[in-house]
Amino acid sequence: MSTTTSAPQSTLVWSDWRSQIQHRITTLEGLRQWVNLTPEEEAAVAACADRYQLSITPYYASLMDRDDPNCPVRLQSMPALQELVVFPNSDNDPVGDTIYRKTNRVVHKYPDRVIILVTDLCPVYCRHCTRKYHTSDTEGTYFGDAASAGWDADFAYIESHPEIRDVLLTGGDPLYLSDTRLERIISRLRQIPHVEIVRIGSRCPVFLPQRITPELCAMLEKYHPIWLNTHFNHPKEITPEAAAACDRLLRHGIPVQNQTVLLKGINDSVETMRALLTGLLKIRVRPYYLYHCDNVVGVSHFMTTIEKGQEIMRGLIGFMTGFAVPQYVLTTPLGKIPLWEPQYSPEDGGSVVNYRGERMSLKDFLPPSTIEGNQP
Ligand code: SF4
Repeated sequence: MSTTTSAPQSTLVWSDWRSQIQHRITTLEGLRQWVNLTPEEEAAVAACADRYQLSITPYYASLMDRDDPNCPVRLQSMPALQELVVFPNSDNDPVGDTIYRKTNRVVHKYPDRVIILVTDLCPVYCRHCTRKYHTSDTEGTYFGDAASAGWDADFAYIESHPEIRDVLLTGGDPLYLSDTRLERIISRLRQIPHVEIVRIGSRCPVFLPQRITPELCAMLEKYHPIWLNTHFNHPKEITPEAAAACDRLLRHGIPVQNQTVLLKGINDSVETMRALLTGLLKIRVRPYYLYHCDNVVGVSHFMTTIEKGQEIMRGLIGFMTGFAVPQYVLTTPLGKIPLWEPQYSPEDGGSVVNYRGERMSLKDFLPPSTIEGNQP
């Protein structure tokens, strides 16, 4: 049922995801209608405007605390002056998407699976996005001049690699696309016999739960096995609307898993993480990864230490059921590195090993401030 809210935009239809997108908050004036901005926030919005796009759905803005600048929803979606500070070793692409990019959209990093960058658009631009360069950076996008290129080369790559059994649609947010465009992509993948599973990475259950319509779920259900990975970072995001969106997916047989990013000042405490993980279990969403925040240009200020992440893991294991505990990992060009295993040793310069036994030193990969005992 569609209802019109008392939100500032009078024509906004709250339950309509397209209307939510049409009424995204993209300006200082728009933000002022939802929160009482501090002078520092006002300055940050102005200073970041030419560098990184601002976009917040009215739904997500409605979760903001009007008066608290440390509100976790505000911190994730509103510009901060620290975004303009370049930290040591930061990179536009610390995870190596560009190294493994085989076509305009296909990134083939692991043996049996690929990701497809189906878009560079998102309903809300997370300030901590790993692909900040591809998504909200006003100058960026991996697509470049090839933004409107056809998909033949992308599908041909997957067709010609029979070892690919798992395809993850990501971006940007794949659910930003219409059902019709999404179905065109998924049905085409389903024609490739060796593609066994299709996964979708989407923050829509968090930012835009209205997007998880019965029609979308019914369409996806035709192409099982479909999995959905989402990205809740704070218990405040687990609302009745988000729970209903996840429930719709689950009732159509789509498993929903969660990938949390460890974010300084947002969820870097045992108490908050436990509340998040138990909250997810209550809505039947399985915690999957806890990512150490990537050292992305414009994002580094969200990073805490690996030791803090390990302290949080120590506060989870044994204190909650095993499947509530995510895997704590750092994404690198070598792949995902488990940080809760004995592989990481600060004593020998932050040396880590990947799943193939390849070694690297985090000393040259992360800001010195994030490795204890390694400060200059
Ligand atoms: S929804 Fe995902 S891709 Fe989009 S800005 Fe957030 S983290 Fe990046």
